[in-house]
Amino acid sequence: MAEKIKTAFLLAGGCAGCEMSVVDLSEHLVDALDSLEIVFWAPTVLDAKYSDLEAMPDKSIDLAFVDGMIRNTENLHTVKVLRDKSKVLVAFGACASMGGIAAMGDLHTKEELFQEAYKDSFSTDNPDNVYPSPEYLLDGKYNLTLPAILDHCSTLDQVVDVDYFVGGCPPNYTFVGKLVNAIIAGDLPPAGSWLTNGKAVCDVCKRNPATTNQERFLVDEVKRTCDDRPDPEICLLQQGFMCFGPVTQGDCGGSCLNVNIPCRGCGGPIPGIKDFGARCASMLASSMTDDATAQKFMDKFNNMAKLFYRYSHTTSKLNHAIAGHKEDTP
Ligand code: SF4
Ligand code: SF4
Ligand code: SF4
Repeated sequence: MAEKIKTAFLLAGGCAGCEMSVVDLSEHLVDALDSLEIVFWAPTVLDAKYSDLEAMPDKSIDLAFVDGMIRNTENLHTVKVLRDKSKVLVAFGACASMGGIAAMGDLHTKEELFQEAYKDSFSTDNPDNVYPSPEYLLDGKYNLTLPAILDHCSTLDQVVDVDYFVGGCPPNYTFVGKLVNAIIAGDLPPAGSWLTNGKAVCDVCKRNPATTNQERFLVDEVKRTCDDRPDPEICLLQQGFMCFGPVTQGDCGGSCLNVNIPCRGCGGPIPGIKDFGARCASMLASSMTDDATAQKFMDKFNNMAKLFYRYSHTTSKLNHAIAGHKEDTP
C-alpha cells in the first residue's frame, strides 16, 4: 500500500468552523483515512503542547491546513513552526486567506475591543475592571502566562509562505479531498494558487438572469433581508437585495442563494480583483439607477467597511492605508 499522506490541522485565530467542513466529509472521511495519516490536529481534537509540534522533524508533514487568522502570539509562533515542519501549507478558509469575520475588529482599537469584550457587553459582570494579562504571578510564586493579543490581525501569508489558498466561511469540504487526490496523483497546481473551480457565485446560481430568461434592469430599491422575504426564483440583486455573487468565487455552489440569502462574499474574490470590498462597492453602484438609490443604500447600511470587507478587511487596501499594516506586520 502506498505511504499515507501525513496531514496536520492547526486552528489559529478562528472559530473551528472550517474544521467542521472536514467533519462534513462524513463517511468520505473514513475513506480518506486510507490515504491520510493525521499526525497533528490541535487544539480542536488533540490537547497537544508546543513541544509536540516543535519536536517533529522539519518537512515531515506532507499536507498542513491552517484555519483562522493570526491574532495572538501563540497563533504566530505555531504557524511559523508548522511552516517549518510542512511540505505543503494551505490557508484554509476566509480567516486564514483574507482575515475573515473577526478581523473586522481591526476597524476598532484594541482598547475598544477589550472594553466591549470584558466590560461593556450585556453578559459581562466585571466591577473590578479585570482584563486579561499576558503574565500573572499567582500567590507570589506561580508565573502564569497567556498568549498576548497582537496589535492587528494578519492573514497566514502575511507571516509565512503559503502554498494554497481556499476561501469560504467555512470552505466546502471537497477541497480536502481535492488536495489529497492531487498529492497522490503528483498533480498539484502552482504554489500560491487559490483552489477554486474558477466560477463566480452567479455562474452556479439557479436564479442567474442569463440562464433563466429574466429581464435585467437597473434597480431603484434597496432592501435588507429583514425588510422583506425575497422571491425564491428571482435574482436577489434584481429585487434590491445586496448580493455579492457577481464578484465572489462560487465553490460553495451558491449555498446562501439556495436558502434565499444574498451572497456576502465569504468565498473570496474571483481572479483579477485587487481589492474585494472596492469591487463589491463598484459592482453594486453599477446596478443602481441613480444617486437617489445610492443614498437609500447609504441610509440602510450605515457601516460600509463592515459590509464590503466582511471577510477580507485584512487584505484590503483600506486596512493597509489606515493601519500602516505592512510596516509593522510581525
Ligand atoms: S473562516 Fe469562518 S468558519 Fe473558518 S475559522 Fe474563520 S470564522 Fe470560523
Ligand atoms: S446576483 Fe446573486 S441572486 Fe443574482 S444571479 Fe448572482 S448570485 Fe444569484
Ligand atoms: S453564497 Fe457567498 S456568502 Fe454564501 S457560502 Fe457562497 S460564497 Fe459564501
